[in-house]
Amino acid sequence: MVSAWAGVHYFASRHGFHAPGDEPGEEADGVLTWPEGNGWLAQRLAAPLGERLLGARVVLRIAQERHGVTVDAWDVHAQRLERWTCAHCIVALPSFVAARVVANAPDWLRAVARAQPHASWVVVNLALDAPLHDRPGAAPSWDNVVYGSTALGYVDAGHQRLQPVPLGPTVLSWYHALGAQPAAREALLRLPWTHWRDAALADLAEPHPDLSARTSRVAVTRHGHAMAVPVPGILNL
Ligand SMILES: Cc1cc2nc3c(=O)[nH]c(=O)nc-3n(C[C@H](O)[C@H](O)[C@H](O)COP(=O)(O)OP(=O)(O)OC[C@H]3O[C@@H](n4cnc5c(N)ncnc54)[C@H](O)[C@@H]3O)c2cc1C
Repeated sequence: MVSAWAGVHYFASRHGFHAPGDEPGEEADGVLTWPEGNGWLAQRLAAPLGERLLGARVVLRIAQERHGVTVDAWDVHAQRLERWTCAHCIVALPSFVAARVVANAPDWLRAVARAQPHASWVVVNLALDAPLHDRPGAAPSWDNVVYGSTALGYVDAGHQRLQPVPLGPTVLSWYHALGAQPAAREALLRLPWTHWRDAALADLAEPHPDLSARTSRVAVTRHGHAMAVPVPGILNL
């Protein structure tokens, strides 16, 4: 259950969002999606930074010193520890990571990290060599939920191509939120990837009996701490 305030914030912050049917012809502009997902955005944000952007660093410790901030980071490629000193540091880590990484973390950060649960998710990407059989009725959608399923359905990564009917190969991303319970996270880690592949194919088999035959490649991603779960007393922005 999400508060009404959080619901309004979620939709109001999406520029251009309007109720379906209010402004016919503009609905396609309300969806921001690319075949490569948020990677499209990330690549364009990173491009102007050039070599100033240092990736593949795992930050181990951030400490406020008398004359600035010290950041200790593990360079994954070079396999060595490096130390940076700077005037200021913006910490944009998930709260449960920040509380461990920031030396002498303030009380408010520790409190948020303790109180903020995270749901584990599994995402199964199914590469299709040809479009699925399209039954008469509603046109294929970007976001699709199977009636009665406990999973979150799938999105079609090729939907932004804006073809009324899918014509060629595409990728379907199937989502399953497993909840915030430790047992769910433990099962996510323990069960083999084939378990999640089969779960996705079985979940989508009813609306798409031809899915298995069309699937040429499957990629399973486990997210142990995928999504912050809204709880009273914590502001999720
Ligand atoms: C499968 C999935 C689907 C989602 N779909 C949607 C959607 O459709 N719409 C939507 O609005 N939201 C969606 N979300 C939620 C959205 O992705 C998150 O709310 C958002 O990314 C949170 O942003 P953030 O900057 O707080 O954290 P993150 O995006 O998690 O960024 C934190 C970054 O810190 C890095 N990091 C962590 N530890 C360290 C360390 N020690 N050193 C260095 N770097 C570190 C991580 O690699 C990561 O890049 C989805 C989330 C998931 C998992």
